[in-house]
Amino acid sequence: MHDFAYARVAQLRDAVARIGAADTALIAGGTELLNWMRLGIAEPTSVVDIGRIGGLDQIAVDGDGRLAIGALATLNAVGEHALVIRHAGALAEACLKAASAQVRNRATLGGNVLQKTRCAYFRAEAPLPWPCNKRMPGSGCAARDGLNERHAIFGWTDACVAVQPSDPAVALACLDAEVEIEGPRGGRSVPMRSFHLTQQEAAEEGQDAATLETRLAHDEVIVGYRLPVLQGLRSAYVKVRERESYEYALVSAAAAVQLDGARIRSARVALGSVAQRPWRLAAAEARLAGCELTREALLPALDESLRDARPLAHNGYKVTMARHAALRALLTAGGAA
Ligand code: SF4
Repeated sequence: MHDFAYARVAQLRDAVARIGAADTALIAGGTELLNWMRLGIAEPTSVVDIGRIGGLDQIAVDGDGRLAIGALATLNAVGEHALVIRHAGALAEACLKAASAQVRNRATLGGNVLQKTRCAYFRAEAPLPWPCNKRMPGSGCAARDGLNERHAIFGWTDACVAVQPSDPAVALACLDAEVEIEGPRGGRSVPMRSFHLTQQEAAEEGQDAATLETRLAHDEVIVGYRLPVLQGLRSAYVKVRERESYEYALVSAAAAVQLDGARIRSARVALGSVAQRPWRLAAAEARLAGCELTREALLPALDESLRDARPLAHNGYKVTMARHAALRALLTAGGAA
């Protein structure tokens, strides 16, 4: 690990004034940046601590009736907050199923969606003895024809087949959250469902498919999230992992439904750990309106969206797992599990 300068700021404007500087990184909970620095993924010469900026950890319903969650709210604070449990149950569950209790007490909702892939070829100490376009652009992708059990089934290119591992990001995308961003050009918001980019999307925009992961500019910071509060909306999050205590998802699914009696009036479904962004099942959502909340009615709609999956050599199981995780999330959200 290299030497670096450290400064703590108390005001958001002070953070915004500093983040544009070269080789500067922001730190809040510190559960991810320190890993990057230890492994040589990031080597900032200046680290700016935003963890004590006042007011950015608040959770409330705003004047427009939306659920507002500050970026510095910890995963445990979000997961245990009565307003989140009431209006965004899938997000509460996703936060409490992310990481260990100790990490959840430090990790913030702002930082969590910016975590990098868990690809084992990527998460190794520098210098890497294998190719990885995310770490060393132009070197190749060791996972493309290597160990890719945990990699993408949607949106990948030969340049990179990694997935975004955040649990809360999947719930936020399902619940149509907006990411609130501040930077030197002022504030803006980006829908969570398009905040991350797949490798295909990055390439289509003429960017480096392996390294461009979000629409956050290098001099911007996430300050919070806003979620619509919808009458009668019920949501759930299902995480399939190899051990229940704490582990990254093999596949996850968030679902939100509004019901008319026994039938679905509207439904939203997002998958996690299947692409480099939360993967909304748009085709299925269109078919789910009017469906009965039964396995027999839901599965054909889900299959419509999963037809586009492009599994790699070793992760075909994810298609089946995603199908059943989405089904379980829908049934649970609707109270029929
Ligand atoms: Fe690197 Fe992406 Fe390939 Fe993993 S999948 S080795 S992160 S380029």
